[in-house]
Amino acid sequence: MRGKLVVGNWKMNGGLRQNDALLAELRSRWTGRGDCQMAVCVPAPYLWQAQAALSGSPIAWGAQNVSEYAMGAFTGEVAASMIAEFGCEYVLVGHSERRTIFAESDATVAAKAEAALEAGLTPIVCIGEVLAERDAGTTEDVVLRQLGAVVSRIGARIAQAVVAYEPVWAIGTGRTASPAQAQAVHAVVRKYLAGVVATAGDVKLLYGGSVKADNAKALFSCADIDGGLIGGASLKAAEFLAIAGA
Ligand code: PEP
Repeated sequence: MRGKLVVGNWKMNGGLRQNDALLAELRSRWTGRGDCQMAVCVPAPYLWQAQAALSGSPIAWGAQNVSEYAMGAFTGEVAASMIAEFGCEYVLVGHSERRTIFAESDATVAAKAEAALEAGLTPIVCIGEVLAERDAGTTEDVVLRQLGAVVSRIGARIAQAVVAYEPVWAIGTGRTASPAQAQAVHAVVRKYLAGVVATAGDVKLLYGGSVKADNAKALFSCADIDGGLIGGASLKAAEFLAIAGA
């Protein structure tokens, strides 16, 4: 039986002092629940801080991006092996902000997922359509193209990844996919994975896009939604804890 997972994506927010307060509050108030893991994906300079604050707690941590390259002359890049050295369990790959603002292609995202796996990290592979694609009725094509690129590269190792469906029109907009809309896409993703690996039923599929304490329960109760990737609301301890509690 796959458990639930709630991951905070701090994006490019934080500072030493605020992080200390947020991490300490999460640590003291999240005592852990057998069926639900909590994790935070922090900016790379704060990985050491997350490690120091959360080691020995039931909360995991990770990064928000990783280089597709292993090591060498790639100024400004951060290798998966470096992220792993800070005790990270997860790394986001293919977040829509990386795809749109930093022009990451499906192939780049796939290479990043592979680099993460090779360093022993669990990639959280983000996929999702923009509003024009949803309106044009191409949501399934888009998400399966994005996920298919990763599967072409890593094959059955997709079973070691987490997939996060994040409709781009719902990210940071306050507009959430309805549970029925989200579940419909998750079911498509699960069916696709079943054609790739026998253990598709064990792969965690997260929903992301304006998840809040008041809509989390309805979303997370859907058959194929195994938790959430939480942006803005993960910066407020009380809200993030309430989401994980849901
Ligand atoms: C995200 O950044 O992955 C996200 C889902 O953001 P928000 O929760 O703020 O919509």
